[in-house]
Amino acid sequence: MAVFYKRDSGRVWSQIPVRIQKCTDDKLRGLFADAVAELNGLIGYTVVQETESDEGIKVVRVTGQGSSRSQTTGYNTDPTKNRIDVNLNRTKGDYGEKSVSENKFVIIHELLHALGFEHEQFHKRYPWDDTELPVTSALDQDDAVYAKLRVPGNQKIFNELKTAYNSGFVPVQYLASRRKNLSDTKLETNWNNCDTNSIMMYPEHDKILKAHFSAVVAQATNKVGSSNLLSAGDIQALRVIYPRA
Ligand SMILES: [Zn+2]
Repeated sequence: MAVFYKRDSGRVWSQIPVRIQKCTDDKLRGLFADAVAELNGLIGYTVVQETESDEGIKVVRVTGQGSSRSQTTGYNTDPTKNRIDVNLNRTKGDYGEKSVSENKFVIIHELLHALGFEHEQFHKRYPWDDTELPVTSALDQDDAVYAKLRVPGNQKIFNELKTAYNSGFVPVQYLASRRKNLSDTKLETNWNNCDTNSIMMYPEHDKILKAHFSAVVAQATNKVGSSNLLSAGDIQALRVIYPRA
């Protein structure tokens, strides 16, 4: 379970790992405060804290098409990169398109990125064969990228990802960039099996994993908490990486 940046790779925050500047957007602020409270509650102590100070991570609401991102934010020494883009609505101008639990999922998922977590499909036991693949960060044009990366054993998963994501998303992009991330040795992925219940696992990747590979490489830890967001594996990993001060 859990794919994360190693402790010695330069974490910025230690005692309070992530301090979140108070949101100025009222609607986002309420949702965000709920998500932070839930995360801390599930861990059992304060892992993330909102602050009045300008230090810490800035939460940015993004409107329009796009994805939420925050990769390695909490490890970044460049203050201009200390921001979480939380995209609560991909197509319309209000928060109503997604349910409250979906929005919380996005917020907590992004917070875990800020804490150093990567996507669970980057786990070494996710059945994507990197062996012969060149290190690349090329993320555009699925088929062109995949043609360069082609490994016969990956064909089924690639095709199913394309179907699962429909058009408009780049199904191979995270698996292509996994090779690059694993090669720099900053990512730790040795923890047992791939956790299919992790909040860091993309649902589409999980679906394919469970359909074809679950008995061999994946293990579901149970979901914990009333909103069913974090897995037991997520909580265990957070407690180890960010122990109680
Ligand atoms: Zn993510």
